[in-house]
Amino acid sequence: MEPTTCYRPVLERALAHAVTYLENLRHTSVSPTATLAELRSRLARPLAERGVRASQVIDDLVGDVAGGLVGSSGGRFFAWVIGGSTPAALAADWLTSAWDQNATLYASGPAEAVIEEICGDWLKDLLGLPPKASFALVTGCQMAHVTCLAAARNALLSRQGWDVERKGLAGAPSIRILSSDQRHGSFERAVRLLGLGIDNVVYLPVDDEGRLPVDVLASALQAQPERPTLVLLQAGDINIGSYDPFDQLIPLAHRQGAWVHVDGAFGLWAAASPTHRHFLRGCELADSWATDGHKWLNVPYDCGYAFVADPKAHHASMSHRASYLTHAADARDPMDWNPEWSRRGRGVATYAALRELGRQGIADLVERTCRHAHTLVMRLGALRGAELMWEPKINQGLVRFLDPGSDATGADHDRRTDAVIAGILKTGETFFGGTTWRGKRCMRVSVCNWQTNEADVDRAVEAVNRVLEETRA
Ligand SMILES: *Cc1c(COP(=O)(O)O)cnc(C)c1O
Repeated sequence: MEPTTCYRPVLERALAHAVTYLENLRHTSVSPTATLAELRSRLARPLAERGVRASQVIDDLVGDVAGGLVGSSGGRFFAWVIGGSTPAALAADWLTSAWDQNATLYASGPAEAVIEEICGDWLKDLLGLPPKASFALVTGCQMAHVTCLAAARNALLSRQGWDVERKGLAGAPSIRILSSDQRHGSFERAVRLLGLGIDNVVYLPVDDEGRLPVDVLASALQAQPERPTLVLLQAGDINIGSYDPFDQLIPLAHRQGAWVHVDGAFGLWAAASPTHRHFLRGCELADSWATDGHKWLNVPYDCGYAFVADPKAHHASMSHRASYLTHAADARDPMDWNPEWSRRGRGVATYAALRELGRQGIADLVERTCRHAHTLVMRLGALRGAELMWEPKINQGLVRFLDPGSDATGADHDRRTDAVIAGILKTGETFFGGTTWRGKRCMRVSVCNWQTNEADVDRAVEAVNRVLEETRA
């Protein structure tokens, strides 16, 4: 087929399959129904000598993955912290692939470089971050941590007279990292990737509300005042969505010359809501912030955002010049701020989602999902055989399930909780994940899909109640 006409049939097939998938989400199982063996046997076709027609590839693919997809793009999924995709974001993501720009330089993708500039400004505005902060659109919060911590490493060591970009870490003053014990594992991976060393992380205990107390950070800072220090604060921790008291902790850390990094993978989005933004008071004083687009903003994977208050440190840790690259004099080259070289134009989906929702739509999304989380958790916690563990303050809450035996121990309740979660997944009606929180197995409830509505909440509560009734000893 001619290159000019060969795309249409396959893209039209893909469109038909996609629309069917999305429209059926309300009726299909949220849990995968295919087994590992089934998926392997279907997908492990022989790598043929001769290729297959594009439409055939797509039809086969859709048939082969049937039952192997998790219904996380729909409204009945409440595990981990996973958003769906808004219509404009999804469509823009498709166009991003069709345009297939290399969004590394302005020269290799001018429109996408400009889109990212605009996304950066819009995001800083929505999230209440300093207008002068630099930013990078990365694959997710994991790489946002890496990007921000690379800037932190550069700045903290350069204040000690050490150019880490040239000299590396061998022989450098070691950086101490203070973090609450509620950090997400992606932070530790960033620490490892950057050679900062897990042994240099000091975990500090949180209070009953999951926040790092001021006196705890103060005494930790004073323990080794001479060491260059990075402080990790949490804007929405993974279990209960708690926020550290930024307005008190950040000035304290700064008095000791520390760099303060905020993990706000989903929680930073509370800033977009007038009723929730109080959780972030003082957060704008930090040195760097990491968040996601693919969680609460509901853009497709992969999409995270890194922001750095000191553009010089950020630029020094990422930028590169080579004779074969064409650098723009007045435009923004993404590669000066990003850890990747060749990269997809991932600003396009963000741009589309922000335009589609608008300020009001984003505030609504945050408030609506928080409201659904609250209803869902309170109703689940009130079921016979359930216990409320954390009433949501934002979009995260916890419940657990109790073994009805009169002499049931903590271990029995843990087992019961895991068994009920497994039972819920089997129904295909709704999907939750487990966690261990303060030594107890719990079921996590996270609402961040734009599609979740009252009917989804009702359906989830009914499904959980049925499992509890049917499995009561
Ligand atoms: C999801 C999450 C991360 C990791 O984000 P990715 O986008 O998956 O890389 C980091 N921190 C918190 C609090 C999270 O919820």
